[in-house]
Amino acid sequence: MNSDCLFCKIIAGEIPATIHFEDSQLVVFEDIGPQAPHHLLIVPKKHIRTTLDLTPLDNELVGHIYQIAGRMARDLGFSEAGFRVVNNCNDAGGQTVWHLHFHLLGGRDMTWPPG
Ligand code: AMP
Ligand code: ZN
Repeated sequence: MNSDCLFCKIIAGEIPATIHFEDSQLVVFEDIGPQAPHHLLIVPKKHIRTTLDLTPLDNELVGHIYQIAGRMARDLGFSEAGFRVVNNCNDAGGQTVWHLHFHLLGGRDMTWPPG
């Protein structure tokens, strides 16, 4: 828990969020500024600042995040149509919250290249 971190506060229940799933390793909640009909954030409970701070100890966690992304996409009914999982890293990558998270976007056709 990092007391200056928005997502740590959501995980601790100090700031409200619409939570779709939670287990011992991660929380899934709705993005407050949705960029698609379905826009969830998959957030590890461990405070990891960016992708660059991952270590081999986190390998199982990252695999679990992708398993949950697929499960959520299936449960919400957009897995077969297709979806996107996005991690923004550092300023040029578009990161604005400094606690590792993965965007799960679905419910519309995505474009490529991304903005
Ligand atoms: P990123 O820009 O990749 O760091 O993503 C941060 C995301 O967090 C953005 O898509 C924001 O809309 C989202 N966000 C910011 N504050 C909140 C909040 N209080 N609850 C849910 N999502 C949030
Ligand atoms: Zn945090």
